[in-house]
Amino acid sequence: MRSLKKHKLKVDSQHSSEILKRLKKEYPLIKIALEFETPFQLLISTILSAQCTDARVNLVTKTLFKKYRKPEDYLLVSNEELEKDIFSTGFYHQKAKSIKNCCKMLIEIFDGEVPADFESLCSLPGVGRKTASVVAGNAFGIPAIAVDTHVKRLSNLMGFVDSDNPEKIEERLKEIFPSREWISLGHYLMSHGRKICIARRPKCCECVIGDLCPSYNPGHKKK
Ligand code: SF4
Repeated sequence: MRSLKKHKLKVDSQHSSEILKRLKKEYPLIKIALEFETPFQLLISTILSAQCTDARVNLVTKTLFKKYRKPEDYLLVSNEELEKDIFSTGFYHQKAKSIKNCCKMLIEIFDGEVPADFESLCSLPGVGRKTASVVAGNAFGIPAIAVDTHVKRLSNLMGFVDSDNPEKIEERLKEIFPSREWISLGHYLMSHGRKICIARRPKCCECVIGDLCPSYNPGHKKK
């Protein structure tokens, strides 16, 4: 993000709340794209979503969740069978291993339930801060910010941070925005990153926060 340093702004609360207000208006019906009915399903979906689109994960979990209903079910099959069932999400070897280890720990330590606190979620095999934040926020309503590639890129472009480090970005966003907005902020940034502030070709001329963004570039014209 070196090239953005010169654009970095001193972010005050008025500036950040105006950005939030406009994004909220732009994406009023925001919710997580992964389909789930229980915290356990969301945990599995989030593990599968690494390097994979949410649409693909939803396609796979539609049948996966009928076959595997609880942590024990994932341990009853061989690695090969589980790998085959999640194959199309990519990195299936590592994901199958993570899912199995995660389910084992859920059974052994958490009575087969997904823990409803951030630190315990982070202690699960294959679950990093991003996955833990997704589950904590969307399954339990615990204020959390999941820093994915969009959140990382937009936070830098908007001048909130000057860092590639997800933990630093998360920490800074939590300083800037009130905790009641953390879950939705992640959704807004992800949606804006997919629709308007697209990597390497942001549509600045269509952006609702163009006048507030230090990286605004009128050269990025509407096509
Ligand atoms: S003005 Fe451009 S760089 Fe800034 S958030 Fe909007 S699309 Fe992204």
